[in-house]
Amino acid sequence: MADTWVTPDNPGIHVYAPGWPGAPEPTGDYLCHCGASGEATGPTEVKALVSEYLAHQTTHKDR
Ligand SMILES: [Zn+2]
Repeated sequence: MADTWVTPDNPGIHVYAPGWPGAPEPTGDYLCHCGASGEATGPTEVKALVSEYLAHQTTHKDR
């Protein structure tokens, strides 16, 4: 079974929901196949991170 965390071999975005043990706040990070990455902590920040990731994907229209 694959690890849920994003790695260079498994690019994508991963978001932790709040309430998980050790994660009282939502956190997220992403790693693109092009090497771009980002991370955020907090509801607003994670939402912005997801938007950023989706917007970033549109820069890869030709791939
Ligand atoms: Zn990219």
